[in-house]
Amino acid sequence: MSSWREGPGAYELRGGCVGCGACCRTPTVLLPTLLWRLPRLRRLVIAWHREVNLFELIEQDRANHALVFRCRHFDPVSRRCGCYRTRPGLCRDYPRGLAQAANPEFFEGCGYYAHYRQAEAMRSALAESGLPPEKLAELEKRLHLRE
Ligand code: SF4
Ligand code: SF4
Repeated sequence: MSSWREGPGAYELRGGCVGCGACCRTPTVLLPTLLWRLPRLRRLVIAWHREVNLFELIEQDRANHALVFRCRHFDPVSRRCGCYRTRPGLCRDYPRGLAQAANPEFFEGCGYYAHYRQAEAMRSALAESGLPPEKLAELEKRLHLRE
């Protein structure tokens, strides 16, 4: 899970949560570049997540400006959240933000998927391309054209 921009986005989220727990294993917070470059502020963000959300930092992903945590509310055996009713905002909102991503990626086993809003027009254009069926199927998957 991470932060996102507001707006309708190019994709519509379809499917639903099947309770696999994958998004709770390593909750991840993306920081704006400016905030990432200010170590004192970054430390405050980390401390805030530790105190308020019981998120323990396990990694600072410098390439993506991301803070990767382990959540102390998550039970990996039952795959349940220990504070579901009062869970943090970023948990509540996941995976809505992926509708705004350039190329949404979901956890393996997640019941949600992204559907490109212009899928029908894209499929028509692809159908006229003369590509072999296996190439077409691969492109439809990569371009999120699944209904
Ligand atoms: S990864 Fe997807 S299906 Fe699994 S718990 Fe999170 S939202 Fe639900
Ligand atoms: S607070 Fe709950 S929903 Fe959020 S990461 Fe932890 S276990 Fe998952």
